[in-house]
Amino acid sequence: MTEEYDYDLFVIGAGSGGVRAARMAASAGAKVAIAEEKYLGGTCVNVGCVPKKLFVYASHWSEEFVDAAGFGWELGEHRFNWSTLLQRKNKEIERLNGIYQNLLENAGVTIVWGRARLTSANSIEVDGKTITAQKILVTVGATPSVPEFPGSEHVISSDQVFYLPELPKKIVIVGGGYIAVEFAGIMNGLGVETHLIYRGDKLLKNFDQPTAQFAAKEMQKKGVNIHYSTNITKIDRQSDGSLSCSLDNGQSIVAGQVMYATGRRSLTNDLGIEKVGLMTRNNATIETNEQFQTSIPSIYALGDVIGTPELTPVATAQAMVFVNQQYGDGTRTISYDNIPTAIFCQPNIGTVGLSEEALKAKGVAVDVYQSEFKHLKHTLSGSDERVLMRMLVDKGTQKVLGMHMVGPGAGEVIQGFAVAVKAGLTKDQFDATIGIHPTMAEEFVTLRDISYSV
Ligand code: NDP
Repeated sequence: MTEEYDYDLFVIGAGSGGVRAARMAASAGAKVAIAEEKYLGGTCVNVGCVPKKLFVYASHWSEEFVDAAGFGWELGEHRFNWSTLLQRKNKEIERLNGIYQNLLENAGVTIVWGRARLTSANSIEVDGKTITAQKILVTVGATPSVPEFPGSEHVISSDQVFYLPELPKKIVIVGGGYIAVEFAGIMNGLGVETHLIYRGDKLLKNFDQPTAQFAAKEMQKKGVNIHYSTNITKIDRQSDGSLSCSLDNGQSIVAGQVMYATGRRSLTNDLGIEKVGLMTRNNATIETNEQFQTSIPSIYALGDVIGTPELTPVATAQAMVFVNQQYGDGTRTISYDNIPTAIFCQPNIGTVGLSEEALKAKGVAVDVYQSEFKHLKHTLSGSDERVLMRMLVDKGTQKVLGMHMVGPGAGEVIQGFAVAVKAGLTKDQFDATIGIHPTMAEEFVTLRDISYSV
């Protein structure tokens, strides 16, 4: 370490990217500190991926109970208790917070509690104390962004939904992206009358549209009320505490809660960015080069705050590359092509590679192999849920350029196939792979006929 500084690396923000970078850098021999003002693990652990997935599991039970009858199970009366779920979820999150603390401390990282602000290229201030570091890494992440309009003070975001004291009987969810669609499924599954309000006419507009539209129809079949091309103009709190939402189509909906899932903004305010002259984009994300270096050479940034895909595995992969480049042999790089992702709506969407629309826009001639079917389980359960599997193949090279699935466990299926798509495998190589029978996933290696070409 350079004697001049308190630390080799000072990380601001203990989310997925920050914690990974801090502990891997410390394990590589650097003297590291990490500042955090709220909770260890950031959005993913506390108000994102982990509690969300636990809520998704919870919400599935309502249909599992119904499905069970088709297999001979005679179940008694059942009720859902929201406070039990909340307490158990909170306990698990606290356990994970503890694991993150142990991981950091065992790696030799100093945890500094409080808000950190940049004061110069090599210094930070936390609670009036100045700390110096040879390198600073900004991993402050992002936070829900809710538009301002009359009554917007009454709405909740994904941060509050994880701690609601009571489950409403009816909820309005605004947005057409990941969070809105996932929470529509969660709330509907938990027995809440769910209204999804979206300003556009197609949910998940950046996803493969036949896939997204199929998923939207499945959600509607399960009971989610989707209001397309609609916006809320104002919200009034009624005397009984309920919220009356006036819509721009002249109608109104009264609900117990209104949740906005209208994107996230990076947490770059009150960080000392202007003071040190760090370059940001219009949407406040921090500009970096491929080494995650900002406009100030000693300050680096990664994760949601730099405007790359807002996904935990992207932030942790960036952290591994950063540490390798700064404290390792410098051979690791990151590619943002073919990032697999899942939306944990019901049924799930899993996807890797390009959408039909993106391929069309690029002028790539594509053969689309598609299969839609009833999952074996539902031949007895009586459920009318259906599965969609789509494979987009380059007409010329026969490389598989996109795989999209709607169905139970779609994220698990696509995670496996993502390796093949990343490796650039061709349709023939998929066909040469023997299926596992009976699974849904085997359909991806038995797609014989071209459904259509674009
Ligand atoms: P998204 O960017 O996915 O979606 C935002 C939605 O809100 C869009 O449909 C957008 O409409 C709509 N919207 C934006 N502004 C307004 C407005 N003023 N009024 C009405 N609607 C508006 O953001 P999310 O908040 O859903 O999620 C943030 C990010 O978190 C995701 O992009 C994803 O990267 C990550 N995430 C990942 C998950 C996973 O991996 N499973 C789960 C949850 C989040 P339009 O389409 O018209 O622009």
